[in-house]
Amino acid sequence: MPIRGVLLDIDDTLVDTRGAFGAALAAVAAVYLPVGVDVERVVAMWRADASGHYRRHTRGELTAAQQRLARAQEVHAAFGGPPLDEATFPAWDEVFRTGFRAGWRAHTDALPTVRALREAGYAVGALTNAVGPLSQDKLERVGLAEDVPLLVTLDTLGFGKPDPRVFLQACARLGTAPGETAYVGDELDIDALAALRAGLGLGVWLDRPGTRRGGPHLEDPAAAAEHGVAVISSLTELPGVLGRVDVR
Ligand SMILES: [Mg+2]
Repeated sequence: MPIRGVLLDIDDTLVDTRGAFGAALAAVAAVYLPVGVDVERVVAMWRADASGHYRRHTRGELTAAQQRLARAQEVHAAFGGPPLDEATFPAWDEVFRTGFRAGWRAHTDALPTVRALREAGYAVGALTNAVGPLSQDKLERVGLAEDVPLLVTLDTLGFGKPDPRVFLQACARLGTAPGETAYVGDELDIDALAALRAGLGLGVWLDRPGTRRGGPHLEDPAAAAEHGVAVISSLTELPGVLGRVDVR
């Protein structure tokens, strides 16, 4: 079955969320962490999320703020920040969220690729594990909202990827059958592999050079190949994988 629809992840796929975490955690470090702390190491710990707090959030077990507090406490314990609790966390979170929002940028390959896909006749939309208002704000701030309709967020069903139901819901909203729909994301297990398990026609792992998370995350090209996942290192390779158009 030919692919007619393309669903895209947002964070670290369309938007440079890793860079935004860098901005957020640099702002946090300036207020809360000892002078001279290596912010790159803080970012690496945050993204690895070795305790899986964000994934508990995507299963509906923690709120967005609860998972951030748990990760903030781990960062402070590791890098010498003061203890945080529910009373002191809102001020921390304000610093983090302000820096995070200011750091949002689209990846430079995002808009040209999305426009090329749309011009070639593909239906395009976003499926993200982040919450709805934040995701819409993010797409608008980086200039993608008009080209990438936000179809399914964590609040749509109350849980997120890798549950197959969110992929099927996104296909229904996109208007394409699962078998003629591709999913593209930067996390091999919860994006491409989960999409294939849900019955989508194509799973694409965007493995941008130098951006792997480490920790418990599955980031193995051999595992991708074994399951028939297409692997790309830039979104500009996506049309070639889908087989019909070139990005100008
Ligand atoms: Mg992502």
